[in-house]
Amino acid sequence: MSMTLQEVRENCAKARNLMQRTHNDKFAVGAFNIDNQETLIAASKAAQKLNSPILIEVSHGEVEAMGLPTIRDMVSNYKREYGIEVYLNLDHSPSVEAAKAGIDAGFEFIHIDVSQADHNASDEKIINDTKEIVAYAKFTGAIVESEPHYFGGGSNVFTDNIDYEEIKKTFSTPDGARAFVDATGIDTFAAAVGNLHGRYPVPKVLDLELLQQIRNNISCNISLHGGSDTPLNFFVEAARIGVSKININTDMRFAFRKTLEKVLSEHPNEFAVIKLMPEVINAVSQVVEDKIQAFGSSGKAQA
Ligand SMILES: [Zn+2]
Repeated sequence: MSMTLQEVRENCAKARNLMQRTHNDKFAVGAFNIDNQETLIAASKAAQKLNSPILIEVSHGEVEAMGLPTIRDMVSNYKREYGIEVYLNLDHSPSVEAAKAGIDAGFEFIHIDVSQADHNASDEKIINDTKEIVAYAKFTGAIVESEPHYFGGGSNVFTDNIDYEEIKKTFSTPDGARAFVDATGIDTFAAAVGNLHGRYPVPKVLDLELLQQIRNNISCNISLHGGSDTPLNFFVEAARIGVSKININTDMRFAFRKTLEKVLSEHPNEFAVIKLMPEVINAVSQVVEDKIQAFGSSGKAQA
């Protein structure tokens, strides 16, 4: 069941209201990545249990696998079924065309990330493509997120250690953040302060002092990507400093796969795999609950 333009605009207005509440009440909203129906159920259950607003997000690979309209309908259906405050985020859309397709499909949050798709993209191209999406999003009121350049990692499990000296070269700067926000008119700045996509053998460290300096220098929303495998106390501090949105992907994928492998090995003769999924869903749901508690969004839903 597709939404009318009026419904899309109302949802985008509610999403903007949620971002305003994150500023007023100093909490962050989790953007939880899904790549199948079970992870969506897991995130929805956690949101319902803790009365927390959430974002469900998909990146380009998941869009290609499931399709934008199906993802939109699934999330709208679970929103109704669970009575939760939930919005959809298109994560790392690689091009202007992909981002526009997300806006057309009724996504409330759009992340345009030209530099991840093309690490050699010029500053001018990144700014111009981002500006084009900011202008296009005015039609529905969708919230546009971007960053000036690519930062590292991928949503997977890595065995190599983190070289923080290398990573530091890709950190956001307060002046760079300000210049990019002023040049593009984005709603949400994706900060790089030690956050990194994926899981690594050593825990991640966020530069909270730098995050505070960026917060002091820009007035728009701030997001953190690469929230997996980060000590939860960093999120408590990040929310206090004024981060509005934190993306979680790999920790959910890790729980999903590890638990699925366990239940499959415990039931070698069960071919109705759906009967084995409740344990998998519960494991992923627990990951989401733990993040919601750290982000401070528990009890903040306005369904
Ligand atoms: Zn990301």
